[in-house]
Amino acid sequence: MRLSGPFRPMRDGLAGLALAGLVLSPVSTAQAQDDNSISIIRDTEIEHTLHEEMDPVFLAAGLDPKAVRLNLVSSPEVQAFAAGGEQIFIYSGLILQTKTPNQLIGVLAHETGHIAGGHLAREGDLEHQAIGTMLLSVGLGILTALAGAPGAGASLIFSSGYFGELNALAYTREQESRADQAAATYLERAGLSGRGLVSFMDYFRYQEVFDDSRKYPYFRDHPLWDDRIEALAVRVKQLPHYNQVDSPHAIAAFETMKAKLEGFVDGAGQVYQDYPQANQSFPARYARAISLYRQTEPEAALKAVDALIADQPRDPYLWELKGQILFDSGHTKEAAAAHGRSVELDPNAPLLLVNDAQALVAVGDPTSLAQAELDLGRSLAAEPDNLLAWRLLSEDYDGEKRPGMARLAAAEQNFYLGQLLEARTFAFNARKLFEKGTPEWRRATDIILASKPTPQQLQALGGGG
Ligand SMILES: [Zn+2]
Repeated sequence: MRLSGPFRPMRDGLAGLALAGLVLSPVSTAQAQDDNSISIIRDTEIEHTLHEEMDPVFLAAGLDPKAVRLNLVSSPEVQAFAAGGEQIFIYSGLILQTKTPNQLIGVLAHETGHIAGGHLAREGDLEHQAIGTMLLSVGLGILTALAGAPGAGASLIFSSGYFGELNALAYTREQESRADQAAATYLERAGLSGRGLVSFMDYFRYQEVFDDSRKYPYFRDHPLWDDRIEALAVRVKQLPHYNQVDSPHAIAAFETMKAKLEGFVDGAGQVYQDYPQANQSFPARYARAISLYRQTEPEAALKAVDALIADQPRDPYLWELKGQILFDSGHTKEAAAAHGRSVELDPNAPLLLVNDAQALVAVGDPTSLAQAELDLGRSLAAEPDNLLAWRLLSEDYDGEKRPGMARLAAAEQNFYLGQLLEARTFAFNARKLFEKGTPEWRRATDIILASKPTPQQLQALGGGG
């Protein structure tokens, strides 16, 4: 998991965190300094776990699992919401507050019910559509992290107000009931129980009484009332899979995900309270290893990760974490070797490829640069809007003394960032260095055309300049 972005000391809010393999992408310097800012976390392992659990539910809802984008939000709040473009935002606080995989899946199945039921129609207005599109393209913002700290990934950081916009949707009681019933249906079709969703709501029903209800934004948007819970409980009890329990695999993956999140987002005190030294389970050791890394104790963290790898040598995410610790402590060659191993074990994960490339570009010899270029090409083929990948590709070409390609990659990066002026400038500079009519020359021309050139610039294009 890679937390990155403007690096902050651990207790200074969550925005600056970079989970091993978590890639965050910042949005604007001003917003990044907003203490209420919210980060999107990218993490191959967690995304894999969430999709593994949820894909059967998406299929049951008639959605294409590959089309559903699961965005993990670094925030202690208990919250999840669906947004346009088949996206679900899942707050780390929700994951940490759910007790079982079945509870988490139940909540997300309910969100799926809002998507499949068309309850986001109010988001169909232009403003919300635009926000959704920008998010999808990682459009908003300025890559402060990219300009800054070593090892920084891109970090997508939004002001809380921005998220408020995105999530300005409180459902009606009728929609809530329908999403509950839909969730029950999908879970049943997927061979899962609806019990977790009921127990989750039941737990918070009593919390709501004792606490300020605003503490749980999820229930602000999804109102709870007794009849709602009762109706759902009656329905799920009648379904054949009501007594289905979580598989050992699902429980293990869930506990690992929680440990990883806690290791990255909570302070050491909390981590050691929840995962005391005496607890020698995999999740506990994982959480402590990550916490050591977050406390910038690379030697102790490495020792802890190596012990985990000795037990589970084929876990790509342990190698990823090792690579991240090594990279952040300046051991670029060793980092590249560890990230290379993570790519071998999980060959098609775009973010693992970017990690590997980042270390290889830092090593900087011709063989490493050539390998980094291959990694980045594969990563960008899967996720063309990965800003860090474009930026690394630009550096990579620079190292290979290919100035035209370096500028073209910088043009792409700025284009995806929505910085059209910069995109255009880089594309113009790149174009001058390519032979007319080559694919690179055409790509540079396309970027210029797509980034709102002035009439004079258009004229210059016509003249082949
Ligand atoms: Zn709802």
